Amino acid sequence: MTKTFSKILIANRGEIAVRVIRTARRMGIATVAVYSDADEKALHVSLADEAIQIGPSPVSESYLVAGRIIEAAKATGAQAIHPGYGFLSENPDFVDAVESAGLTFIGPSSKAIRAMGLKDAAKDLMATAGVPVVPGYQGKSQDPDFLAAEAHRIGYPVLIKARAGGGGKGMRMVHAPKDFAEALQSARREGQASFGDPHVLIEKYVTAPRHIEVQVFGDNYGGVVHLFERDCSLQRRHQKVIEEAPAPGMSDAVRSAMTEAAVMAARAIDYSGAGTIEFIADGSGPLREDGFWFMEMNTRLQVEHPVTEAITGVDLVEWQIRVAAGERLPLRQENLAINGHAFEARLYAEDPANGFLPATGMLEHLSFSDTARNDTGVRSGDAISPFYDPMIAKIITHDADRNSSRRALYQALRETHVVGTATNAEFLAALTDHVGFATGHFDTGLIARDLDALIAETPPSDAHVAFAAIAALGLDPQAPRQGWRLWGKAAQELNFMLNGTPLPCRVVLEPDGSITVHRDGSNVITLKDLAIQGARMSARTGPTNAQINATARRAHRGTARLISVLTGGVACEFLLPDARSGSAALVDSSDSVVAPMTGTVIALDVAVGDQVAQGARLGVMEAMKMETSLVAPRSGTVSEVLCAAGDAVEGGAILFNLEAEAPT
Ligand code: ADP
Ligand code: ADP
Ligand code: MG
Repeated sequence: MTKTFSKILIANRGEIAVRVIRTARRMGIATVAVYSDADEKALHVSLADEAIQIGPSPVSESYLVAGRIIEAAKATGAQAIHPGYGFLSENPDFVDAVESAGLTFIGPSSKAIRAMGLKDAAKDLMATAGVPVVPGYQGKSQDPDFLAAEAHRIGYPVLIKARAGGGGKGMRMVHAPKDFAEALQSARREGQASFGDPHVLIEKYVTAPRHIEVQVFGDNYGGVVHLFERDCSLQRRHQKVIEEAPAPGMSDAVRSAMTEAAVMAARAIDYSGAGTIEFIADGSGPLREDGFWFMEMNTRLQVEHPVTEAITGVDLVEWQIRVAAGERLPLRQENLAINGHAFEARLYAEDPANGFLPATGMLEHLSFSDTARNDTGVRSGDAISPFYDPMIAKIITHDADRNSSRRALYQALRETHVVGTATNAEFLAALTDHVGFATGHFDTGLIARDLDALIAETPPSDAHVAFAAIAALGLDPQAPRQGWRLWGKAAQELNFMLNGTPLPCRVVLEPDGSITVHRDGSNVITLKDLAIQGARMSARTGPTNAQINATARRAHRGTARLISVLTGGVACEFLLPDARSGSAALVDSSDSVVAPMTGTVIALDVAVGDQVAQGARLGVMEAMKMETSLVAPRSGTVSEVLCAAGDAVEGGAILFNLEAEAPT
């Protein structure tokens, strides 16, 4: 029996809520968004036809409150609920409650979710169905000595996994017996804290592992197809960073074996809707038909589903809605084929240089390359709040072959410009350019092995400084003479701060209209034929007169002005303390450290008399929920500490002084 949905509710937020709304609108289905206090002005709320407030910002009081969401659906007359991923998407009690309310859950049955909900039971079920599973122990006993003996039997290294785990949490790798007891304790603790279940299973740690998963789709009539595989081996701490489809090095024989196993797994639980069977494969050599094992099934739409959409041309959300409405699968297996190669990179508000600490703050500016698919739930002016996952966007590219698609991703990442929060964009670009990744020779350990090189920050080029100076001075060669005359003098000093370090420079307008930038008394770059259009700038430079392009965005940090320049694929943020606050003079002095913005001092690392090295952290400030390190401009001895942790300080205020340097 087929139902007709004229209105659906999306029980989620962010990019996935936006993603679902777009397909529903295209299908002529009205949409209801739900939102918490923090999301009142969110993109998903503005795109939906209706929106219902469901509670305060914490997820436990809003997006996880099943009752509120079901009430909202009934109040608005929605016939079905799409759960997105995360939140309630894999909660079988929610599915039961939705169905008891006479509504349709756009996803699998609660029975299928229960069967796959715990990793131990799921593995037993799959083994019985004839699917290869990772060797290990997934029985009832949780006795530490017994588990240690099992680990010994399985053979080190082993992986301890919380059976209720997800998102890479509750997992501990153990290399040797002496470390087992402690790892077991901490995995159990994390399982209890994050999922309310301390129960663990033990698995053989597959060496040189590759994570390869198969997208499956079932309908309510026993139809099951697969939509090929995705390779998600680029991971950091067991979490996916870049995904692609198809998997590099996949042969027809291995693909057949893996997709058959996945379809068998889905059939074993009468699966309906979109699902993913995750396998771990031995990547120490070429992929083998007997070299992959079932890890778990995700009974929902996956974050990385767009790469599958790109290579198959299928809109997976449309299929979800049609199958939930009682339609048969729109395509048969023989009508599905792989076309080209796709990548997805997860752009996060996080600071790779600072241990990938999640960042929050206002996205003062956000722009993407127009050559990629950019799935996002935020726009310029939105905040990345501490309440939710700090993902900003998924950047997806598709091209005829792997290398073209990879290069397109690299370019798209280099054109991504975010002002207002730290991001992993540069790290993602470095990863995309990594030789192992480029040649398709990688496993899940790649990022950890080469982390230092991948997070190395590119220092600003002379072009960055020059374009920042032009933006700071408001130079506009197209506004006839005006800008130039306003500028008045033929030379101007700018006291930029870059990552807490003073970067004074002198900008000179030459008689021929070119612009030179001087640092430390010498000319570092000359720009000719400057052209400015909105935020975009271009100029010619160097012996070959090569054209360089840049984008400059302006924002504020307290009383200081901020100019973010993106050129050569690297974004740099220049602070210009407000001259009126009297700080411009101060930043010149390398004896003082001034507050780069108005905010709160949240940590002090030094006391009077301490010896500090150049670049050492003296303290940390916070403003607009963003943390900034206060660093020593040079090596020396701290002579004064003029603030205390907890102090509110004005941008430009002197916070530390260093003893004057002895004349040399
Ligand atoms: P995928 O497996 O689809 O690639 P992830 O494992 O990264 O995705 O998780 C998808 C989303 O679901 C993430 O936003 C993550 O925060 C959330 N998530 C995953 N597992 C859980 C869980 N057990 N509880 C709550 N949220 C989860
Ligand atoms: P989650 O529910 O957190 O996604 P998974 O069981 O899917 O947990 O494992 C997460 C990641 O950990 C995998 O993508 C893989 O990189 C790694 N992993 C899991 N099991 C193994 C294993 N047996 N050997 C090697 N790596 C593994
Ligand atoms: Mg997983």
